[in-house]
Amino acid sequence: MLARQMKTALQGLWPEELQALALAAGQPAFRAKQLWQWVQVRGATRWEQMGNLPAAWKSALAATHTPEPIRIIKETADAGGTRKWLGGLDDGECVETVLIPARDWTTVCLSTQVGCRMGCAFCASAKGGFARSLSAGEIVGQFQLVMAATGRRPDNVVYMGMGEPFDNYDEVLKSIRILNHPDGLNIGARRITISTSGVIPGIRRLAGEGLQVELSVSLHAVNHELRRQLMPIENKYPLTELLAACRDYTAATKRFVTFEYTLIRGVNDSARDAEELAKHLRPFSCRVNLIPLSPVPEFAGEAPTRVAIEQFQQTLAARGVSVTLRESKGKDVNAACGQLRRQHRLPQPSD
Ligand code: SAH
Repeated sequence: MLARQMKTALQGLWPEELQALALAAGQPAFRAKQLWQWVQVRGATRWEQMGNLPAAWKSALAATHTPEPIRIIKETADAGGTRKWLGGLDDGECVETVLIPARDWTTVCLSTQVGCRMGCAFCASAKGGFARSLSAGEIVGQFQLVMAATGRRPDNVVYMGMGEPFDNYDEVLKSIRILNHPDGLNIGARRITISTSGVIPGIRRLAGEGLQVELSVSLHAVNHELRRQLMPIENKYPLTELLAACRDYTAATKRFVTFEYTLIRGVNDSARDAEELAKHLRPFSCRVNLIPLSPVPEFAGEAPTRVAIEQFQQTLAARGVSVTLRESKGKDVNAACGQLRRQHRLPQPSD
């Protein structure tokens, strides 16, 4: 089946690209600035909202461009205040966006792909199959979708939704530079975190971008055999090389790397596992973020007990590793990556 020709999302265009559009249509350059303001800063998603732009230019642009690359299909919320949206894209695909509140700030979790190619054993995004990568506009558009739905601007951005950010490097980087743009939302680079399953070339490229973006690396095991079973990417980019790339990232950017470690009962949660992890990370300036497994139907695993989780945490801390525990926020809104899309897609006979 041929993909339908999709309209270009205005949210993914640089000021210079908007200016080229204006000039090509015989409009003065300041029209491009007005369009940028509407789309990026005020979060307009409908042409009618942009009252100061000439109607003729808007209707001509509407043939090829859209201010609404993503529309809410479904919203869920849990008692802890975590909200999750299933957003529909122009070609009928859908992605998930999550807003996680903390005491004094909020964090939005963005998707970078429809599905994922990495195939981690416990991750619902992979189970839902891979359709395609998102454009920069579809990534930035999730931020504006949340602004429109909540009336507030999230403080922090994490690229931890569906997909592997470094499997869509160029569009992800463009989306970061747009969110970070001083004339736009102006989200500080240090408020933006990219999480990778361990795509070494992506880590090395990011180190050279001159951006102080935070890097998270999903580790989940420091034993080659076990990590291979949990994360097929270990076959391509093995642990020792991955850790070397992380060390170089810190040397180049002066930013600590955060290692994500999903705790799975009886698989990677023993005292020995914690000791091994501490041993591997001792030479690093880094943090470990423990995530108790969020159960997914396709993976026969469970989170450890509360006591076991705390023991794991204490073993690391006692060995000098800086460690935090991510409470399973959003469990009851299916906030583990890809669960909402998966549910939405399950009843479809074509699956
Ligand atoms: N592909 C990127 C970013 C998306 S996943 C990456 O792998 O880092 C964000 C984090 O959630 C990763 O650490 C991932 O391993 C973890 N995760 C995925 N499914 C999970 C589940 N069912 N329970 C707990 N953590 C999970």
